[in-house]
Amino acid sequence: MVYDFDLYVIGAGSGGVRSARFAAGFGAKVAVAESRYLGGTCVNVGCVPKKLLVYGAHFAEDFEQSAGFGWTLGEADFDWTTLIANKDREINRLNGIYRNLLLNSGVTLHEGHARLIDPHQVEVNGQRYTAKHILIATGGWPQIPDIPGREHAISSNEAFFLKELPKRILVVGGGYIAVEFAGIFHGLGADTKLLYRGELFLRGFDGAVRKHLQEELTKRGLDLQFNADIERIEKQADGSLKVTLKDGRELATDCVFYATGRRPMLDNLGLENTGVKLDKRGFIEVDEQYQSAEPSILAIGDVIGRVQLTPVALAEGMAVARRLFKPEQYRPVDYNMIPTAVFSLPNIGTVGLTEEQAREAGHKVQIFESRFRPMKLTLTECQERTLMKLVVDADTDKVLGCHMVGPDAGEIVQGLAIALKAGATKRDFDETIGVHPTAAEEFVTMRTPVTG
Ligand code: FAD
Ligand code: NDP
Repeated sequence: MVYDFDLYVIGAGSGGVRSARFAAGFGAKVAVAESRYLGGTCVNVGCVPKKLLVYGAHFAEDFEQSAGFGWTLGEADFDWTTLIANKDREINRLNGIYRNLLLNSGVTLHEGHARLIDPHQVEVNGQRYTAKHILIATGGWPQIPDIPGREHAISSNEAFFLKELPKRILVVGGGYIAVEFAGIFHGLGADTKLLYRGELFLRGFDGAVRKHLQEELTKRGLDLQFNADIERIEKQADGSLKVTLKDGRELATDCVFYATGRRPMLDNLGLENTGVKLDKRGFIEVDEQYQSAEPSILAIGDVIGRVQLTPVALAEGMAVARRLFKPEQYRPVDYNMIPTAVFSLPNIGTVGLTEEQAREAGHKVQIFESRFRPMKLTLTECQERTLMKLVVDADTDKVLGCHMVGPDAGEIVQGLAIALKAGATKRDFDETIGVHPTAAEEFVTMRTPVTG
């Protein structure tokens, strides 16, 4: 059978673009369909615009702290419209770069919604195309629980395009997006509350990190409301929102922002025309080589619901391209030691096992911890403290996990991730010369375990 394409990719997001470009580079005939925006979630309504807004929010404390270094500034004034317009311009530029990346690598781009017709056929804009392999890389979509008044709530998709900065905002959830956006809105001057249904946010992160961030955000005046869940939202005559919590409390706000996880984007994808199966959580089920229950169809990225991070989608996309078209270069994706950052203010950076995970896995652990006031703040009134923590296997001396809450934690943890991936021991850390004066040098100067 002669197919129109060797590989048809549905979704030009992080994973889809990477896979399409590499496959085309390996000589395959490749097409990609994109219904919404080139670059996908990360470029348009995820990592990139989020980080730009975090930078924007960060200026508030820079202005405040500059006084300690002798600066006198006029009254600072923030204009949301300017920030959003500049952000939009940058995203437009990136969309263009993604288009060129695809076209210059010889990928055919179909701009429209793709629907599977059968295991080897896709329909876009009324045209049908056949392909030997089809890769589903359609990503995810925000999930808002079905509560009365949910139509008054927004998600991260809308948050990036609000016409004005809300005066008061309730951010609901306790994961990455909730914590990052609570920091953004608070930093930009909105009266911000973070509502989380459990005891302590950021489930799955190291306990010390969660507690430390709670303390730091509270010090900054962010209103953290734990054990709080919304029962209903009602619009008031003046346009504001009345939010009733399950415990009966009522809160008044101007915006309710749900960040309560993401579902796989499978809308009108035509999966019913294929043998693709979903797992218990509703994500596409694939084997270790990203093949679905339908042999010609593969899936990667957020739609398989493993680790919902851009660099993971990129790695999966590359693995698929190599396996199909350059098998001699194929290497499976290693899901151990994936570093990650939460761009809260201050940042969290983490790689490897948390103390809780290490203990649960049966390791005899030694814990090293350092808490200190960053040098930059010593000339200021700011009482923020940084946390650094190492989880070490007491038997093998291997460093199992590094965790940090503090400025540039994401930047610092990227380098540590290489060390952990290479199997570094605590002794390797101890024998590494520090870079002085930096915060990062604390990671190589922690000598006395706090427990173990
Ligand atoms: P996506 O990037 O979502 O791409 C899927 C694409 O498929 C989309 O462009 C969509 O329009 C298209 N599509 C869907 N259905 C169809 C169809 N039927 N036909 C045609 N096209 C279709 N990760 C990080 O690593 N760091 C961060 O700082 C970070 N910040 C984030 C902040 C936010 C607010 C969000 C929401 C996510 C963030 N992420 C971050 C996660 C990251 O964005 C995702 O893990 C990543 O984008 C997943 O890539 P993907 O290729 O699986 O899907
Ligand atoms: P997460 O899965 O990280 O967090 C979801 C949060 O919502 C959890 O605190 C969860 O609580 C809570 N929740 C879930 N359902 C409900 C409900 N029905 N009512 C109230 N609360 C609820 O999802 P996000 O939406 O924050 O982000 C999605 C993913 O995107 C992240 O997991 C991450 O992989 C990626 N991302 C990465 C970023 C980065 O790398 N910096 C930034 C942003 C997103 P509980 O813990 O109790 O279940």
